[in-house]
Amino acid sequence: MIDSDKFGELVEKLHTLLGSDYVTVQQTDKVLNAHDAWPLSEAKIRAGELLPLADIIVFPSTTREVSEILKIANKFLIPVIPVGGGAGTCGGTLAIYGGIQLDMKRFDKILEIDETSMMVHVEAGVVGVDLEEYLNRHGYTSGHTPTSVRSSNIGGFIATRSGGSMSSLYGKIEDLTLGLEFVLPSGEVIFCKPVPRHSVGPDLRQLFIGSEGTLGVITKATLRIFPLPEERRFRSVSVKDVSTGLEIIRKIFRAGISPSIIRLYDPEDTAFSVSTHFDVAEGDCMLMLAFDGSTSKNDLDEATVMEICIAEGGNDFGAGPAERWWNHRFDMYYPSPFTTSGYAIGDTIDVVATYDKLENVYHSMKSAMEAHEAVVLSHFSHMYPNGGSIYMIFFTAQPDAESAWATYKKIWDDGVAACLKEGGTMSHQHGVGLSRSTYVVDELESAFSVLKSIKEKLDPNGIMNPGKLGLEVRK
Ligand SMILES: Cc1cc2nc3c(=O)[nH]c(=O)nc-3n(C[C@H](O)[C@H](O)[C@H](O)COP(=O)(O)OP(=O)(O)OC[C@H]3O[C@@H](n4cnc5c(N)ncnc54)[C@H](O)[C@@H]3O)c2cc1C
Repeated sequence: MIDSDKFGELVEKLHTLLGSDYVTVQQTDKVLNAHDAWPLSEAKIRAGELLPLADIIVFPSTTREVSEILKIANKFLIPVIPVGGGAGTCGGTLAIYGGIQLDMKRFDKILEIDETSMMVHVEAGVVGVDLEEYLNRHGYTSGHTPTSVRSSNIGGFIATRSGGSMSSLYGKIEDLTLGLEFVLPSGEVIFCKPVPRHSVGPDLRQLFIGSEGTLGVITKATLRIFPLPEERRFRSVSVKDVSTGLEIIRKIFRAGISPSIIRLYDPEDTAFSVSTHFDVAEGDCMLMLAFDGSTSKNDLDEATVMEICIAEGGNDFGAGPAERWWNHRFDMYYPSPFTTSGYAIGDTIDVVATYDKLENVYHSMKSAMEAHEAVVLSHFSHMYPNGGSIYMIFFTAQPDAESAWATYKKIWDDGVAACLKEGGTMSHQHGVGLSRSTYVVDELESAFSVLKSIKEKLDPNGIMNPGKLGLEVRK
């Protein structure tokens, strides 16, 4: 917290830079921005707790303004927290030390589609669904449609290394980002020019993809685009257990087929999410698939995949469950399933592992979490030739706030510990933010010192999003 004389000077400088309409110190604005979609912060607000507030919120619209804001923040030694769509699930935008929340919503322009090189240039504040609908109108898709596509923006996707629902075919955001404009904490603007790949040393784009606002601010990006598929075809198969489902997925990749959607629900998640609409045998798991492409290609892929499924004892459910999931995939968030009453609290832990470890990670995490009276539902999604992610949803109901927060923490601590013990990685797509910050050293082990050194070099005053991503450099 800076003293009131300096604070007045800081606000005046920001007013001069941005104009008074784009600088706010209003309590209501600060309260609205005090949480993202981290279920713990939402639950605490419902329980009447006031979360830490930013001192100021600013709304720049040009790269030069972002650069000047960071220079000012360095002079006043005040934290800067970039805010994208505010739909992150890990508390990444929380102003835990106060400071300036730098809201990117005015960076909302889609600059140009380049149909020759199949890419689109955008500002970082463009909302995912706005880009996708724009591209669709021109006959293209971004291939990046996380379930947060309606609320998150491009900068947020890149900053958190997000993964879309169709990542098995189109790739994750790190595969889709060809170029970047990035403002370093010093205010210097750097460009990683769009190229399909290069061999000029390490790929610096990858340093900033996933940096969660701790190394600076993404202001523009160039993303790959794809022609809209002739058709998207759905298919669903029930299998007797998780092992069989994973074996089918491995065989699909070995056959050289990349469905756009692959989701394998464990028995509990199948009972909760699928059996309410389809007649699935008790204890079975539902495998949902989609194929994007031409009709002739989809005919071939679907036939091969069904052969594999039937040989593994699968029961054909036609398009039904997969198509229903696709059409209703946003419904469960209105209202959020975690917006429960009393001291019931839930969250999701998404982890990733190679196939040789995946089942052990799943079983160990599930029993570690269930040991704390949690109901755990899991599905395997975002599958790749070498492994995939497990998305574990948990709920627990407690009599009071103290036991709710304590139980929630134990479920997280023991769930992540079990994942790491079995050789998994503790975040696949949601990033680290605040909620996973304490686990980063255990996850990265000796490699953490490299990340810390980069942070200290680029941000010696520790102004950028302090306390997130396990990084804490405060002056
Ligand atoms: C209902 C729901 C469904 C979701 N589904 C998915 C999913 O399918 N796949 C998935 O990957 N994630 C999903 N998420 C998680 C989350 O929305 C994404 O990870 C998303 O990428 C966050 O983007 P945002 O714009 O909302 O970022 P924010 O929450 O605003 O910010 C997230 C982090 O990025 C930093 N940041 C934001 N913009 C910038 C910038 N321009 N420069 C530098 N740093 C920046 C922030 O400081 C913060 O640390 C979901 C979340 C919700 C609530």
